[in-house]
Amino acid sequence: MEHLFLDNTAIEIHREIQTGNIRHVVFDFDGTISLIRDGWQNVMVPLMIECLQTETDTTETQEQLETIVVDFVDRLTGKQTIYQMMQLSEEIEKRGGTPKEPLAYKDEYNRRLLPVVEERIAGLAAGTLSADPLRVPMSLEFLQSLRGMEISCYLASGTDVEFVKNEASLLGVAEYFNGGIFGALREYKKFSKAMIIEKIITDIASTARSYSGSELLIVGDGYVEIENAKEVGAIAVGVASVEGNVYNMNADKRERLIRAGADIIIRDFREGTQLINYLFNL
Ligand SMILES: [Mg+2]
Repeated sequence: MEHLFLDNTAIEIHREIQTGNIRHVVFDFDGTISLIRDGWQNVMVPLMIECLQTETDTTETQEQLETIVVDFVDRLTGKQTIYQMMQLSEEIEKRGGTPKEPLAYKDEYNRRLLPVVEERIAGLAAGTLSADPLRVPMSLEFLQSLRGMEISCYLASGTDVEFVKNEASLLGVAEYFNGGIFGALREYKKFSKAMIIEKIITDIASTARSYSGSELLIVGDGYVEIENAKEVGAIAVGVASVEGNVYNMNADKRERLIRAGADIIIRDFREGTQLINYLFNL
């Protein structure tokens, strides 16, 4: 796809946008700011293969099941975890099994992921692990710059909200989200990134001005938030950050973000100053 690079940077500009108007920025969390849950696929995929093997009479091989699981987990990444578990239940049913409630699979997944995440969280809390390598490079500095300009920042994650709040504070970024920290709820229908974005737009519009899409910037590494941004005419920055999973999942992240409609693609925030200068006409 044709695109330009911002002068002397690796920042890809895919579409001409109206710059200089941004007042609100919504961030995704995992993969955009936080690397604490990096490698979660290494827990989810084996769990699902195990469920398909033990809860159905399938004759498919381990490899065949892995291909199927990797495919749908990858496709549903960025939505709340429960959607991946709903697909698992469907796959079990398709193979003649009687699936448990998707929430039961989600709880089991969280239980298995916990030791991995917990080790990092405990290390952060105890100060034996530094937060810096667990943040997407220069994401903290990017947030600091935005808040220094009195831009409102919001966090919207598909991970459960209580985890997101705790992890954001351990990474030292929580205080910059003056607009709020939002995440998945057990009653999953009460949360989606689109709902948070709608709420922000309603808030903006209620301040007696009309809302223009160029006031809102959405930054994320998932196609879901990029699509959400495009639905409301907001500016979308796709973060094609590197993933640490053994299945080579999301290897085409950059292409996916572009397909979803990202206006700009970055790898991380190391050129955050140049990006801010561009977005704010500085
Ligand atoms: Mg993400």
